[in-house]
Amino acid sequence: MAVEAFSEIAAARRIQRLSSHISPALTEPPQLQTEACSSRSKKLVVNGQALSLYMKGKHRDIQEKVHEFYNSRPDLQTPLEISKEDHRELCMRQLYALVREAGIRPFRYVADDPAKYFAIMEAVGSVDMSFGIKMGVQYSLWGGSVINLGTKKHRDKYFDGIDNLDYLGCFAMTELHHGSNVQGLQTTATFDPITDEFVINTPHDGAIKWWIGNAAVHGKFATVFARLILPTHDTKGVSDMGVHAFIVPIRDMKTHQTLPGVEIQDCGQKVGLNGVDNGALRFRSVRIPRDNLLNRFGDVSRDGKYTSSLPTINKRFGATLGELVGGRVALAYSSVGVLKVSATIAIRYSLLRQQFGPPKQPEVSILDYQSQQHKLMPMLASTYAYHFATVYLVEKYSEMKKTNDEQLVADVHALSAGLKSYITSYTAKSLSVCREACGGHGYAAVNRFGSLRNDHDIFQTFEGDNTVLLQQVAADLLKRYQEKFRGGTLTVTWSYLRESMSSYLAQPNPVTARWEGEDHLRDPKFQLDAFRYRTSRLLQSVAMRLKKHSKTLGTFGAWNRCLNHLLTLAESHIESVILAKFIEAVRNCPDPSARAGLKLVCDLYALDRIWNDIGTYRNVDYVAPNKAKAIHKLAEYLSFQVRNVAKELVDAFELPDHVTRAPIAMQADAYAQYTQVVGF
Ligand SMILES: Cc1cc2nc3c(=O)[nH]c(=O)nc-3n(C[C@H](O)[C@H](O)[C@H](O)COP(=O)(O)OP(=O)(O)OC[C@H]3O[C@@H](n4cnc5c(N)ncnc54)[C@H](O)[C@@H]3O)c2cc1C
Repeated sequence: MAVEAFSEIAAARRIQRLSSHISPALTEPPQLQTEACSSRSKKLVVNGQALSLYMKGKHRDIQEKVHEFYNSRPDLQTPLEISKEDHRELCMRQLYALVREAGIRPFRYVADDPAKYFAIMEAVGSVDMSFGIKMGVQYSLWGGSVINLGTKKHRDKYFDGIDNLDYLGCFAMTELHHGSNVQGLQTTATFDPITDEFVINTPHDGAIKWWIGNAAVHGKFATVFARLILPTHDTKGVSDMGVHAFIVPIRDMKTHQTLPGVEIQDCGQKVGLNGVDNGALRFRSVRIPRDNLLNRFGDVSRDGKYTSSLPTINKRFGATLGELVGGRVALAYSSVGVLKVSATIAIRYSLLRQQFGPPKQPEVSILDYQSQQHKLMPMLASTYAYHFATVYLVEKYSEMKKTNDEQLVADVHALSAGLKSYITSYTAKSLSVCREACGGHGYAAVNRFGSLRNDHDIFQTFEGDNTVLLQQVAADLLKRYQEKFRGGTLTVTWSYLRESMSSYLAQPNPVTARWEGEDHLRDPKFQLDAFRYRTSRLLQSVAMRLKKHSKTLGTFGAWNRCLNHLLTLAESHIESVILAKFIEAVRNCPDPSARAGLKLVCDLYALDRIWNDIGTYRNVDYVAPNKAKAIHKLAEYLSFQVRNVAKELVDAFELPDHVTRAPIAMQADAYAQYTQVVGF
């Protein structure tokens, strides 16, 4: 087909599609009336424009710039079918083009304006998730480790090269035998006082650095995490100072040949993210100058003396890892972006798709089926909830970067661990639900669920395995619980525990346990109280169990005996934080119609979660049987209400067409587009 003819058809389609947005009634199938809604006839109207304005982050402009740039460059778009090798080269080209052609310099924002950096990362990830991760490896991991763990001399020497991509680098922490347990790493960096160098060594196969992004093909440097070994004058001869970070050149700057003593292997084809070149690194007595120790938290003098402002190995280790939380914030934020895309595709398709219907009447939209609403509407509500929670996380992280306030550091550490694990797990599950909700067409690669699912899946594991991270949240809560009983203060985020622990732990009120009116169930106070009550009880009961079991099993054994309980506690706490931030966002929304839309999804989020855990509430008579039924009924009704404004709610995400580029998401002419994909 001639190019002009093709573009005319495309333009006509576009107009048709736009017109459907203006007058959706013309294209939307008739709605099935359900019994649940017949008693409440008032239909909610949501001002989509006001809502998207409220949702719009302050860095939407830079995202639009990224989208426009890649839309104008078909040569930089990732085709559906591509080999691993080509995909890696394409991702590299995509990154070069961002920095050297579009003139966007993400590294400048890593420290100074993290919110802008995360916005760029989300936009870049929508071009190709491999590209987003490749950018994250270069700037958050390799670059971030240099500027956050190093000092001025490192910044002066490396900043420009990292920024302009001359110095492509890796973040080499994980080893074959140790991933989550970073303190167990075995690679060594032994100080040689004669030559004033560190000698980097892989003592055995289990210590080979594994899964290292940028290592297989493109990296020139690596930040290598290794045990710092210093010679001593006692009988032991050496002293192990714990894990530290070192800059190690791995390839020649001019020839790109692997440097002597460094061995690199390719980690091979992965389930997803094949545009990222993950590799394995082995070091055989590789010598680096003493200056290459990233020495913000600990240094070695010319004569081999160790100095640090932090008193213990554990404190130094905590401070080192604490500087790396930016990666988790980025993953939580990007995961919400993925959830928005997949929910949008599935909901738009469900509005369009018609199957069955009452006798002798037109077929109905599949989103009119209660089961489809049950799958997708609480998910849409959760997407809104996580949007506001991660916006809050980014704000707190940016504040922490500016102030370095100790309390805020602890807060952001636990909050980023909790939100990263909770949201990425939810998104991973939702991708399968969305695929299934779109039937057979959801299985076509062009409709994106396959690549989204495969690429996103590992978000649950890297930057900290989710199960391990949730334990950090639980440990943090327990620490603060103990502090409370020692008369200490509780941090800002968790202050609800301070304020209300005792009232939550009193016996449930038998009167309110029976209140089942809609006003009461939709009252934010009831909802937050219910979430916080659950967290407080879980916290108190697990603290008692740990105390009891540690007498016989020791601390490690007791923790393991209570592990599932601890994970439930962490999730419950994170849900409380998410709901609190959502309620705040609803209150602060200036437009009444947008606020009404947000209030609807916020209520659905809260009641759906309470219903999901109704057993817990019933067990302690926090809700009476009839109240439990009322919660369920209301959640179903709210799902139906959300269905009625689902189009406005997904449109308010303002995702550009190319981001949701699945043909089944294009409302008006989906089938036309879709048939074209297979060549009709
Ligand atoms: C595509 C990809 C890219 C990566 N990029 C990098 C990179 O650039 N740099 C880098 O350094 N690393 C990288 N990694 C490594 C990644 O960070 C690790 O895989 C991750 O930290 C988990 O470690 P692990 O694989 O050893 O899992 P393990 O720690 O062995 O975990 C396996 C299972 O055991 C469970 N488990 C482990 N410990 C506990 C516990 N205490 N309690 C309960 N359950 C537990 C986990 O929940 C998990 O289900 C990458 C990995 C992949 C797959």
